Amino acid sequence: MQITRNATDTFTGPGDWFTGTVHIDAVAVPAGSSRVSAVSVHFTPGARTAWHTHPHGQTIYVTEGVGLAQRRGGPVEVLRPGDRVFFEPGEDHWHGAAHNRFMTHLALLDVDDAGAAVVWGDHVSDEEYGAAPATGA
Ligand code: MN
Repeated sequence: MQITRNATDTFTGPGDWFTGTVHIDAVAVPAGSSRVSAVSVHFTPGARTAWHTHPHGQTIYVTEGVGLAQRRGGPVEVLRPGDRVFFEPGEDHWHGAAHNRFMTHLALLDVDDAGAAVVWGDHVSDEEYGAAPATGA
């Protein structure tokens, strides 16, 4: 048993991978034979990931706020607390906050044999993000 007390610094999502300000807390880190990686990601209004894929897919679970997600070629979907999304392995997608709301989600995945969790692509442009539907008050 290994206890990690609440003393791990929150880190900021790198600008190469995110648009806007994103704060990330580590929840589970792969160790030994475990491939599970989990983070709690806090998106400020308008912040979002770049386009990306995950080698073994990813589950996100919204805990707070109002979020958006889109797979390549699909509509921008509005996400609310309690909503869960599974992105298929290799499915190109992005996720983030609504333009006018914070959003926090847990993100859970299995890393690959090399320990990689994500393959990053281009940023989500304002035009792509702006295609998001209104999220209401
Ligand atoms: Mn993802």
